[in-house]
Amino acid sequence: MIYLDHNATTPMDRRVLGAMLPYLENEWGNPSSPYRFAARARLAVERARHKIAECSGCRPEEIIFTSSGTESDNLAVRGTAYALGSRGRHIVTTAIEHHAVLNTCRALEKDGFRVTYLPVDHSGAVRIEELERSLTAETVLVTVMHANNETGVLQPVREIAALVKRRGIPFHTDAVQTAGKMPYPVCGLGADLISLSGHKLYGPKGAAALFVRETTPMSPILTGGMQEKGRRAGTENVAGIVGLAHAFSLSASLAEEEYKRLETLRDRFEQRVLASIPSAKINGAGAPRIPNTTNISFDSVDGESIVLGLDLEGVCASTGSACSTGDPEPSHVLLAMGLSSKEAQGSIRISLGRESDEKGMDAAFEALSRTVVRLRSISSV
Ligand code: PLP
Repeated sequence: MIYLDHNATTPMDRRVLGAMLPYLENEWGNPSSPYRFAARARLAVERARHKIAECSGCRPEEIIFTSSGTESDNLAVRGTAYALGSRGRHIVTTAIEHHAVLNTCRALEKDGFRVTYLPVDHSGAVRIEELERSLTAETVLVTVMHANNETGVLQPVREIAALVKRRGIPFHTDAVQTAGKMPYPVCGLGADLISLSGHKLYGPKGAAALFVRETTPMSPILTGGMQEKGRRAGTENVAGIVGLAHAFSLSASLAEEEYKRLETLRDRFEQRVLASIPSAKINGAGAPRIPNTTNISFDSVDGESIVLGLDLEGVCASTGSACSTGDPEPSHVLLAMGLSSKEAQGSIRISLGRESDEKGMDAAFEALSRTVVRLRSISSV
């Protein structure tokens, strides 16, 4: 199998599994219990918090453990909106966010919030001037993702953070696709709230975190106990949290090297595709992108069919977000970039990772060429 869907999920690093096992086998105490046995689980959670804070460039108290990137996004968006709802009821986001943010904003509209969904340009990036124009005295949150999960296009998050800081508006960024993978600590982006998720960085599923700046108002969204200093109720997933921290620090230590390696592999793959598959087009090629992602459109052939064809050749790729699999609608991200429905439906996403190498990418390229030629020969699209 040649796995090229790392933006959907990554295999767990064996070292991460090793770090987690003691907390699944022997150290199964509830971190909130009063005796020494449970204190060991509590200590493990706190060590993990320190480790993540150290790699992110923030204080340990600013890390809240959650169950997923989706929950982190929900907590950031709903939690800030509810905490500041009496000050104003306007939220600014973009049309290309992951559904964890988009659908949360849509739900808040039903609760009386007004949401601006900013458009993006043809390269898939939001324009800072447009964002600035959308801000009002009523704006209580700006949420713009760091890298888009379908195209890999990076948004101007540092500039947005500086802009909204001057206006005193909290800023959330969904860094699920970048946290621990960029050659700099994620808190250097300057956002007040940052979402990250373990299974995107060779850690376990069901373990994630939200960075919340100490001064940022945020209401809890789960009702229950006082875990995470009352900010996220529910018994901690101790093994998952230990795994998340281990995965995060391993990823951060490899980030610089991996960044360059993946960029070289991805660029070489794209050049081969553009040179030999007629009418292939890279979406977002004109913008800064994370190095592991390529989103390619093909004429006269359906993306879903390409993905199925690649699967028969042993290559795992996707048409976009794994959460949208089975959704007949074309990608909202590609439509927002100005692609027609037909173009969006003729697109696939390839996302590389630690096990990707030149040999695998060459084999994936051959499989893709064969699949597109075969599908085009029978195409009615
Ligand atoms: N945000 C982005 C940008 C993502 O790519 C994903 C997952 O694909 C999520 C949020 C949701 O993360 P999780 O799968 O941990 O819920």
